[in-house]
Amino acid sequence: MEMKQGKVFIISAPSGAGKSTLARILLQKYDFFEFSISATTRPPRSYETEGVDYHFLSADIFRQKIMDHAFLEWEEVYPGRFYGTLQAEVDRILAAGRYPVFDVDVEGGLSIKEKYAEQAVSIFIMPPSREILKDRLRKRGTESESDIEKRYKKAEVEIAYASRYDHVVLNDELDHAVSQLMSIVDSHLQKA
Ligand code: ADP
Ligand code: 5GP
Repeated sequence: MEMKQGKVFIISAPSGAGKSTLARILLQKYDFFEFSISATTRPPRSYETEGVDYHFLSADIFRQKIMDHAFLEWEEVYPGRFYGTLQAEVDRILAAGRYPVFDVDVEGGLSIKEKYAEQAVSIFIMPPSREILKDRLRKRGTESESDIEKRYKKAEVEIAYASRYDHVVLNDELDHAVSQLMSIVDSHLQKA
């Protein structure tokens, strides 16, 4: 059953801009937030855990879930790499009286915003520059150089979506970005 209550927080950014870092901090600061665990066909990174960071699925099972209409939205974010938000995951979080936090790409973010409308707050995390973005991707050390190039190329397109988000937070100094995010959250909670 679809629950239409509470707030949903959507965080999008080019890969490497720092959205997972910021989402993690937000989730630690507010105990009513719950991370919406997406499904993906990409392999797990060394520090990622099944059912915590993602539901890591085979391409066949992912396709089956598309056919079963299990996704609120899904995208082929990079060629051959599928990512999707499971509707059951969102319903479970809202039914528990908690607020879901989505870490999704720009297309997914706009789909969720459209679906949850006034209930949704969309936030775009902006990297300070393209050079710093590439530097962060390299320093993270989780992708091959060719995957870094794919993510960097996509960043150009993704940054063009920023104006369609409710808020844009510049992630230059981490502490500044965290306080900006917290004031956005607080202002929306007062309205809720
Ligand atoms: P995303 O989830 O957007 O792909 P991450 O949160 O994984 O990005 O961040 C990419 C890398 O940049 C990580 O190694 C992270 O520690 C680092 N990082 C994040 N925010 C900052 C910041 N404000 N200053 C410097 N490094 C940062
Ligand atoms: P990563 O492989 O770095 O974890 O994620 C790559 C991109 O996929 C990021 O932009 C991330 O936000 C996005 N992503 C993660 N989960 C989902 C999802 O469920 N739906 C969509 N559309 N994008 C997602």
